[in-house]
Amino acid sequence: MEKAKGIVWDLSDLYPDADETRIEKDMQEALELARDFRTRYYGKIKAADCDAARLRAALQDYEAMLEKIYRPYVMASLLFSADGQNDHYKALLAKAQDINSRIENETLFFGLEIQRMPEKQAKAIIGDPQIGHYRHFIESERLFTPYTLSEKEEQIINRKNLSGRTAFVNLFDEFTSSFLWEIEIDGEKKTLTDSELRQLMRHPDAELRYRVKKAHDGKYGDNAIIFTNIFGNIIKDHATEMELRGYDDPMQPSYLRNKVSAEVVETMMRVTMDHYSLARKYYELKARVLGAKKLKGSDLYAPVAKSQWTIPFDEGRKLVLDSFSDFSPEFAGLLEQAFSKRWIDAEVRPGKRGGAFCHGVTPSTHPYVLVNYVDNLDSVYTLAHELGHALHDVLAGEQQTLLTYHPPLVLAETASVFAEMLLTRKLLNMELDRETRMQILASKLEDFLGTISRQTMYTLFERDAHLEGGQRRLAADELCNMWIKRRNEMYGDVVDFLPEERWFWSVIPHFIHTRFYCYAYTFGALLVLALYHQYEQEGTAFLPKYRRLLSAGDSDWPEKLVADVGLDFRSESFWQAGFRVVDSLLNEFEDAVRWA
Ligand SMILES: [Zn+2]
Repeated sequence: MEKAKGIVWDLSDLYPDADETRIEKDMQEALELARDFRTRYYGKIKAADCDAARLRAALQDYEAMLEKIYRPYVMASLLFSADGQNDHYKALLAKAQDINSRIENETLFFGLEIQRMPEKQAKAIIGDPQIGHYRHFIESERLFTPYTLSEKEEQIINRKNLSGRTAFVNLFDEFTSSFLWEIEIDGEKKTLTDSELRQLMRHPDAELRYRVKKAHDGKYGDNAIIFTNIFGNIIKDHATEMELRGYDDPMQPSYLRNKVSAEVVETMMRVTMDHYSLARKYYELKARVLGAKKLKGSDLYAPVAKSQWTIPFDEGRKLVLDSFSDFSPEFAGLLEQAFSKRWIDAEVRPGKRGGAFCHGVTPSTHPYVLVNYVDNLDSVYTLAHELGHALHDVLAGEQQTLLTYHPPLVLAETASVFAEMLLTRKLLNMELDRETRMQILASKLEDFLGTISRQTMYTLFERDAHLEGGQRRLAADELCNMWIKRRNEMYGDVVDFLPEERWFWSVIPHFIHTRFYCYAYTFGALLVLALYHQYEQEGTAFLPKYRRLLSAGDSDWPEKLVADVGLDFRSESFWQAGFRVVDSLLNEFEDAVRWA
């Protein structure tokens, strides 16, 4: 088995020969630039005489400084990702992190001063043509202005957080990462970690899956006192902070972070709930495929196919590039470079980090992609996904500068998930056996139902918990009942959940780490499907618009960028279009099931 042997990236575009003297020199120079920046601008941005010309000059200097640190920082982190056992790279990365955090400290004032500019002055600057494409960056920085407290108060909150909210987050992380389970496999008792258990939930043996799920969720229930306390305090802390800062809705900070409005998110969640029936239909079909009357909660991730399709790297690369070239020969050409110029590290080897990523460096350099390619269908999808990100970076790099280069959160997965859709179409148009076809459709449907329906269900539970728990302390049973109520809205009586699954709310780290993060997944996925639907309707006329959307990076509000493609977040039909794509995949799955 070759498994992409020899497919390693060439980092010489960043630093020839990985010249460490130069890498370290660049880091030092970046720190000098940051200190210099502070000397020149500290107190001058919030000053009454700051005008568009001064702010523009400051933004350009700030970007030049960021360019200087990003290159060595990314280099260090790529070297480390490729060979994590190399002590040399570990030290280099630690140094880059240290210098980067010193740079952040030196320049922290800049964002704060932009926030603290008097409203009238800020308006004048934003309206001044001299500010050019930086307008949106300034607007985004100032989103939180009405909710920011005095400098002294912010400092107190920050310091008290260390033993408050942050302490609960750390407790959650430390506690859950210490969890181990004893599971009997093939007559042998094994001690397993969380990620090993998650793998087993995809095991073909239903009885094993059942025991694994029971043990996994049951452990959270056994520790209900701790999880109820942690979540309860996170909720209370959030409520206190909302009150201090003057927010009137626990989800409001997340709207600002995602740069979308409450009405848009409401519409999206309502339409999603209206389409919960798609999830029910899918899981009923899945039960039939597995030969069960009804699915158990432990069957949701069960494999639908017995055999795995083997796809060597060269074939995978061809599939991905062909799926792009059916869409746009230009894009396929851009991505062909990723292979010919070696932007990709695909081989599996000891010491290399797991998973996959695409790292966009700066607009002046190309992105780098890391995958661990193991000759199966999932690997091909991962490759398509990361190359989608790479395309986004390349196109944004053509038009944007560093501060407007990285797409906003709700658009961050646009090109990657779109690339997965292109690959899906390509595969489904091929002559494939029934089982492979079912496997492709099931994996896409489970992805979409997982990111769309289930993340909305999570958000609805989280909102219930915050609205109620902000007022009074919730008991463990109350949280479980809130969870079951929202879960039943989605699954109806199609799935028999295990009694232990009532604790699943305490498994989800987002509730602890980043409040109201989950609906961003729904948002991103439905947005891509709506775009894909648009492409199916318009054909090649869609291409220039899609190109514009990707090259716009983070240069305007998501709503405006998408309006330019002819879509409107505010209308229900926008969100319904996404479900039409899911529905048509579901019909294809149903056909494949019925062949049997
Ligand atoms: Zn991604």
